Amino acid sequence: MGGFRGGPGQEGFGGFAEAFGDIFGDIFGQTGGAGGRRGQQVFRGGDLSYAMEITLEEAAAGKETQIRIPSWNECDTCHGSGAKPGTSPKVCTTCSGSGQVHLRQGFFSIQQTCPQCRGGGKVIPEPCPACHGAGRIKTHKTLEVKIPAGISEGMRIRSAGNGEPGTNGGPPGDLYIEIRVKQHEIFERDGDDLHCSVPVGVVTAALGGNIEVPTLGGKAEIELPEGTQHGKTFRLRGKGIKGMRSSYPGDLYCHVAVETPIKLTEHQRKLLKELDESLRKGGDRHSPNAMSWTDRVKNLFK
Ligand SMILES: [Zn+2]
Ligand SMILES: [Zn+2]
Repeated sequence: MGGFRGGPGQEGFGGFAEAFGDIFGDIFGQTGGAGGRRGQQVFRGGDLSYAMEITLEEAAAGKETQIRIPSWNECDTCHGSGAKPGTSPKVCTTCSGSGQVHLRQGFFSIQQTCPQCRGGGKVIPEPCPACHGAGRIKTHKTLEVKIPAGISEGMRIRSAGNGEPGTNGGPPGDLYIEIRVKQHEIFERDGDDLHCSVPVGVVTAALGGNIEVPTLGGKAEIELPEGTQHGKTFRLRGKGIKGMRSSYPGDLYCHVAVETPIKLTEHQRKLLKELDESLRKGGDRHSPNAMSWTDRVKNLFK
């Protein structure tokens, strides 16, 4: 039904946020940020991506559903500190707790995120056995998702704050639900319009008559005129899909596919041969496409 792809920061260290943190930290010497403890670098949590497969009917009508997503609880054993009970995190000796180190390169002093504590300012000498020093335990939660009517393939729904947790008090990332629409057995979607192929027997095509065609909302009828040719298209107004940003629905295009009969009995063969003879007597009169085709071939060899 769907699956997870970890965000850029698989380990809970937000990919882009971390990368930017490093760049700005290096250039401007920034430390800390909104919500962060003093002297520590704050990282936003990574984004998560969830692929959701839906049917064309669900895309057209919308859907309310539930998905299971990862979530993180504070570790009960260490109460979030990440340290084994009875021990405590120590101030990082490499950066003296600032989360930053200064490297001297020629005339310049370059500030970088401390490689020892990864900007946190603290190290855990004895990690908590329950969470391996992370301070939190990964679990799952159920999320109610409302898929809007008219959504299409490749669109993403953002669920703010449902990504990975931030680091050092940083905000969590977001969850992105990516919509995949399953291929439909009958309809093909083109924007708000739908297309379908309607097989029509050669006799019905020749004589005309009413035929039943499928629509997303049930069956409809088309009146075929006498002498309907293969490939003729009939448009059913408003029988397409109402897109998310559209004020009215698209149309349904039914493409006539005239079928050649197969597995004929001797009697049917005889009837067809008789019909053929009769049609030939009328010349090209009965074959509008052949008529123009013969003309075109003549012109070609002039
Ligand atoms: Zn723990
Ligand atoms: Zn450090």
